[in-house]
Amino acid sequence: MVVRAFIWCRLSREGGRSVDRQEQDGLRLVAQRGWEVAEVFKEWASASEFSKKARKEWLRLISMIEGLKEEIKAGQEYAVILWMEDRSARHVIQAWEFVKVCKSAGLTRIVLPSCEYDLTDPEDEAKFMGEVLHAQREMAKMSKRIRRAKLEAAQNGKRHAGGSRHFGTVGVGKNVVSPAQAKREQDLIVEAANRILAGDSLRGILIDWNGRGVRTSTGKMFHNYTIRQVLLSPRIAGYRVHHGTLYPGQWEPIIPLEKWQAVRAILTDPARKTNLGGGTPRYLLTGLVKCGQCGRRMWGTKRVNYGKEQPASYFCRPYPGTGSCGAVRRSMTKVDELITEALFQAVEADALDHVSRSVHSDSNDPSRELYEQLAHDAGLLDRLEDKVAEELIKPTTARRKRAEIECRMERTRAKLDQLGDRRVMVRIPRNLRAEWEGYSLDRRRAILRAVLNKVVIHPQGSRYRFDPDLIVPDWKV
Ligand SMILES: [Zn+2]
Repeated sequence: MVVRAFIWCRLSREGGRSVDRQEQDGLRLVAQRGWEVAEVFKEWASASEFSKKARKEWLRLISMIEGLKEEIKAGQEYAVILWMEDRSARHVIQAWEFVKVCKSAGLTRIVLPSCEYDLTDPEDEAKFMGEVLHAQREMAKMSKRIRRAKLEAAQNGKRHAGGSRHFGTVGVGKNVVSPAQAKREQDLIVEAANRILAGDSLRGILIDWNGRGVRTSTGKMFHNYTIRQVLLSPRIAGYRVHHGTLYPGQWEPIIPLEKWQAVRAILTDPARKTNLGGGTPRYLLTGLVKCGQCGRRMWGTKRVNYGKEQPASYFCRPYPGTGSCGAVRRSMTKVDELITEALFQAVEADALDHVSRSVHSDSNDPSRELYEQLAHDAGLLDRLEDKVAEELIKPTTARRKRAEIECRMERTRAKLDQLGDRRVMVRIPRNLRAEWEGYSLDRRRAILRAVLNKVVIHPQGSRYRFDPDLIVPDWKV
């Protein structure tokens, strides 16, 4: 009876012969011996050697061998072709499981390109296990070497080798841009950091950049998360991060470290609204305007009547059961104009200096440390995924670490809540009036939220004319 052979091909992360080459080698062996192929198993290494999913093909092979008992007893011969010992099982326990299953099913031939093991011979079996052990030791040495080399590179301030060009750098290899282009991108990074510190949103920057035709380092459109990624990278502050620790790099920072940390604190602040989805405020004073009659919040609307757009207004919405009166409505344009004009005048009279100053004087702010802790932990979480992918830690360890970090972040957030602090990071330029036109809605709203508690709109009865005295801003002074 012709021997039927299973061919096992597996590409390890450490490289080696491709799966297709392994398959060809296996097929050649089968042909040379005049056997026939029972089945070819192919597996590409995934992040983990230990997860069930990663071992899916391996488990399929094992259970297939287990099911051969009767057939083998009836006289059918089987063999398993492995390209290398460590391809079958990188770990001794897995190899032992394999040998045990083969033996109990009566499958005794394990074939490699260079040699053949007969599992009925105890010496062969020991040799096979020895080879696996040897392969595992080599693998462990290599992994340690890689880890050491990476740590060394980090400590020497080298950039990560490989990968695509970073936004704001000239780049290496094929993907190189002119120094002028790199400089333009660096200016954009500085601009974006300033805008975030000034209370603008990623979305505001995104709309602007896409409008100006700014593209990523790989020539793609920017998204919220790609801008965020650029701004969160310590690289732009002249640092690189390795396992949660910052190491100074050998390149020039684009923005100073303190500034980057401030940007990072804002972008990783869990209290920060991402401004995505349906809850996005569409009007300048949404959330700030309150009804002078019932005290409830007022809503903004642009009413469409018979297909014709009515003048936009803030209005008290008569929701049953909420106690809102539904009796007050005012022209949005007029209220917005009145409030922004009051804001400009306050800025020009230096009345709001304390808001701008709060950014610089927050070194003794107790929340600062907590925000930094949060930013640090968020960074650790980011790195955790990489570590699993690089096989530097086991998924089980990663899960435990993740739970630990998330638990700590929960506690930090609770402490922040206790402080009642929602640090206002708003920088208001003296020439606000001139700049206002160029600001995004989010940035304008951030400034107004920083200086205003609320704006009360009082009912004006049957009077028709807009009465500015009935609009009462409540400043945070
Ligand atoms: Zn009302």
